[in-house]
Amino acid sequence: MNLFELQKLNEKYKCFITINKNFEQEAELSKSTQKPLSKWYFSVKDNICTAGLQTTAGSKILENYIPSFDATAIKRIKNAGGIIIGKTAQDEFGFGSFSTNCAFGAPKNPHSLERVTGGSSGGGACATALLEDNHIAIVESTGGSISCPASFCGVIGLTPTYGRVSRFGLIDYASSLDKIGIMAKSIEKIALTLQIIAGKDEKEATSSELPVPNYLEKLKKPPKKFKICLPKEYVEGIDPKIVEIIKNTLKKISDFVEVEEISLPMTKYALPVYYICAMAEASTNLAKFCGLRYGMESEKKDKKYDAYFTEIRSKYFGEEAKRRIILGTFIRSEGYERKFYLRAMKIRTLIINEFKNAFKKCDLIIAPTMPFIAPCFDEVEKLTPLQNYQADILTVAPNLAGIPMISLPVEKISGLPVGLHAMANFFNEEKLLQFAQLLEKEKLLVF
Ligand code: GLN
Repeated sequence: MNLFELQKLNEKYKCFITINKNFEQEAELSKSTQKPLSKWYFSVKDNICTAGLQTTAGSKILENYIPSFDATAIKRIKNAGGIIIGKTAQDEFGFGSFSTNCAFGAPKNPHSLERVTGGSSGGGACATALLEDNHIAIVESTGGSISCPASFCGVIGLTPTYGRVSRFGLIDYASSLDKIGIMAKSIEKIALTLQIIAGKDEKEATSSELPVPNYLEKLKKPPKKFKICLPKEYVEGIDPKIVEIIKNTLKKISDFVEVEEISLPMTKYALPVYYICAMAEASTNLAKFCGLRYGMESEKKDKKYDAYFTEIRSKYFGEEAKRRIILGTFIRSEGYERKFYLRAMKIRTLIINEFKNAFKKCDLIIAPTMPFIAPCFDEVEKLTPLQNYQADILTVAPNLAGIPMISLPVEKISGLPVGLHAMANFFNEEKLLQFAQLLEKEKLLVF
């Protein structure tokens, strides 16, 4: 991989907001160090802070922001010899499912330029599909932002358990939901990267103290059989061709799996509960971007503070960010907290319990990742905000629960990838990796 090729690729696909112009020199220096990641190239979603490299979270309000520090995950990658090649395009602050809400231009689907990459980590998925196998994407999910673009672009996308990877240095969307994860085209690479970035971080209170397993060792000792649950709520009303592909994939590995159909009736509440939690938290987290300590400033500060904030926020936030600030602020407003936020939190607990109960019976829950294949840009343009949110119908419940999940590219429909979604109990990432490895060995992953 060289800088010129990367720039050319980016002109066509727009997967990077910023390219690290020094990456070749950095790679040269790293080569001789024999560290575990010294031959690997990493792209990083633009909402994860990278020292000396512009970090915008896909928003104009952070244009020109150059962090002076690395997020913990990035620091660990660099310490292990990994090279950062650039910052990938995303929906502004993670607000979207198609990456079309990126203030610096939407990335294009590597399988068809008229189609979207999915979102919000669209740039990372696109780069993973296009670049060689020694590239790994560090990405982030709040409500499905790793699984969705991994499915649309045909790559592997792992979302770890909430707290498995430190959020220090991640620009918050919704703090109780945000998770840093990984995309690649090889299971082993995902396993090693996770091993390096996971684990307790003194700088971040929600990072888990649980010891990090040796995932590579776990891959050497896979279980003989996986108990799998197929929830009926995740296949009803979904494109039958997609459901067929998921069921067929399981049939092809029938020697290794025991499949049971189950029902997860709380699923129907996941979408409204997710958007209430996510918007309430997002509107709080975005309050700091007011042109004083954080975000773009104006030369003239001669107005009253509220008029000044309004000017800055109106000018630099995109349409979807504004929509979420308004809705989120309304949800949190006095007198409404019981009606919306507290109720949503209670239902969120019921959703968590429903998953915990299901995992008493099975190792993995399997479903399609997305209800459809990557749509065209003009189809996405016609969607109402509500239709946009409905695209996340299959991914929000596990994200609300905080359980780990992986999207695996299992087949194509008219040349466009279809993702199989596997979900596991809290901190059972190794089961996802072992299952993914089984599909990889059986040659059922298609890139
Ligand atoms: N599409 C979802 C949203 O817009 C999820 C995005 C994400 O995970 N960052 O909130």
